Parts: sequence; structure tokens; C-alpha cells
Amino acid sequence: MKHSIKKAAVIGSGVMGSGIAAHLANVGIPTILLDIVPNKLTSDEEQKGLTLSDKAVRNKYTSTALQKLLKQKPAPLTTKSNLQLIEAGNLEDDIAKIAECDWVIEVIVENLEIKKQLFEKVDAHRKQGSIISSNTSGISIEAMAEGRSDDFRKNFLGTHFFNPPRYLKLLEVIPTKDTDSEVVSFIKTFGEDVLGKGIVLAKDTPNFIANRIGTYGLLVTVKQMLEGGYSVGEVDSVTGPAIGRPKSATFRTLDVVGLDTFIHVANNVFDKVEGAEKEVFQVPDFMRRMQANGWLGSKSGQGFYLKQ
Ligand code: NAD
Repeated sequence: MKHSIKKAAVIGSGVMGSGIAAHLANVGIPTILLDIVPNKLTSDEEQKGLTLSDKAVRNKYTSTALQKLLKQKPAPLTTKSNLQLIEAGNLEDDIAKIAECDWVIEVIVENLEIKKQLFEKVDAHRKQGSIISSNTSGISIEAMAEGRSDDFRKNFLGTHFFNPPRYLKLLEVIPTKDTDSEVVSFIKTFGEDVLGKGIVLAKDTPNFIANRIGTYGLLVTVKQMLEGGYSVGEVDSVTGPAIGRPKSATFRTLDVVGLDTFIHVANNVFDKVEGAEKEVFQVPDFMRRMQANGWLGSKSGQGFYLKQ
């Protein structure tokens, strides 16, 4: 087999990207973790006259990204020393480093246009023959590859990890009509044998398989709750531990996923369906208000629950 993964790059160091980088480090793969720099200075930095392009500000961001990995719950790293296998950096300063990587995984915000802009940069800097994948929850893989080089398209596919990536076994693999079959079989074998995942091959349809079903179920549950006048706690008690499903309580799950991400994912299907199904994928107003207030879930400190 012509592929092997000696080094990887993960672009996007949020909820999923940091967990995926940690999972790669846990199996011994050196990984570069890139993100954009924050768009605001602290008041302390402002007083010192620093700007967002100052090295001090950018380096602080890098070490914060790594420290976040150690603090995350459930802990994504098996040992603290695995952190040394992860090199964090800024997309702007460090993108050329992806040329050292055999696999580049995109894990940024769920937005087709922003992902396409990133893939244009990735196409310009990656090495020929390297595998590129997206962790999108349900945006068309084919659409993301539009305009990219032949070598990019041949080596591009969806690899959809589930949250938290260290613990959830499912990995959906989504090829396009252009993905080389050797790349698909390599990722399947690598996913199973090295990453310890259970692979499901999915078609490139909105939200693939698990999220198409999961988002539907979740939104129907929320709408039933509103109609029946039930509380968040009541719904969680009948969809979670009390019925033997310790990790699946509806609103606890939403807090782990992140409300902004969930809304993007529901919109992926809403935009593509008609009639009664469209109604189901319409996100209720109260969720949009929560998003506008910044109550996104664990990552912002408050969602349906306050972060413990
Ligand atoms: P997140 O909001 O936690 O993190 C997104 C990260 O992307 C942030 O750190 C942000 O700074 C960065 N980013 C935004 N624009 C960027 C750009 N132009 N270049 C580089 N970085 C950029 O989101 P997340 O929950 O980690 O989701 C990331 C991807 O994974 C999305 O496509 C999402 O649909 C998918 N996903 C999420 C979950 C989940 O449960 N949260 C599960 C599976 C898949």
C-alpha cells in the first residue's frame, strides 16, 4: 500500500480538532494543530501597545491551545507526555508546515465557504499524494473539493469523527466519485487498526448517516417537549441514564456538541429538503436566542446547563 501516516495536521483546535489531535498523539503520531489567532486582544495586551500580529500574542495563543487540551473533560490525552507530540501553531504563520504531513484533517467551523477558502490554501501548501479530509458533520464533500487540483480531489474524502473523539468509536468515511479507492481502503484500515475506530462507509448526502438520524430525533424530541410543556430536566431524565443510556440525554448531548455547531448541522439538511421534513429541521427560536446570547454549551461555560 502506497500510503502511510508518519505525521498529521489538524486544522481547527476547537472541541473536535483538539480531541482528534489528542487521539492521534495517543497512538504515537506527531501532529501539527493549527487555528486562526483570536480576533481580540486582552486589556493587558492593549495597554502594552501590542497588536494581533505581534509574536508575543501569537505565541501565547499557541500555548493556550495546548494547555486547553490538558484541561478538557473527559481528558483527551492518555499521558501528559503525549502533548509533546502535538505542535500547535497559527494558520497564517505556519500553514507551510502541512507540507511535512501525510494526512491533513480539516476541523474548522461548519460553513462551506469558509471551508472552501481553507482548502484552497491547503491545496497550495500540501505535498502531492498526501491525504486530505474534512470532519464536517454533513456538508457535501464533493462541494468542498470544487475548484481543487486533480491530486487534491483524488486524495480527498470525509472522515467524520464523533464527540468526544477519544471515546466514541464510530468514524464515518465519505468518499466522493473522485476519491481514489486506494485512499478509501487505506483510511478504513488505518481507522480500524491504528485509531481503533469502527468504520461505516457513508454516501455524500446531507449529514451522512448518523447526524441525519440523530439531528432528526433530537429536533423531534425538542418540539414534543415544547408542545407538551416539559422541562429540560424532565426530557433528560427520560432520554438518558434512567433508561440505561448514560451518555445520550438530549440536552446534555447538545451542551457537549455546542449549540452553534448543532444549528449549522440542522441547517445542512433544512436547506436541502422540502415539505414536512423541512419543518422538522427548522431550529426552534429559543435555540437561536440561546446561540445569540453565547449560551453554546460546555465550550462557552453555559448551555442548557452551567459547566461544572
Ligand atoms: P468549534 O467551534 O469548537 O471549533 C472550530 C474551530 O475552528 C475554532 O477553534 C475556530 O477558531 C476555528 N476556525 C474558525 N474559522 C477558521 C478558519 N478560517 N481557519 C482555521 N480555523 C478556523 O467547532 P467543533 O465543534 O470543533 O466543530 C468543528 C467541525 O467538526 C465542524 O465541521 C463540525 O460540524 C464538526 N463536528 C462537530 C462535532 C461536535 O460534536 N461538536 C462532532 C462531529 C463533527
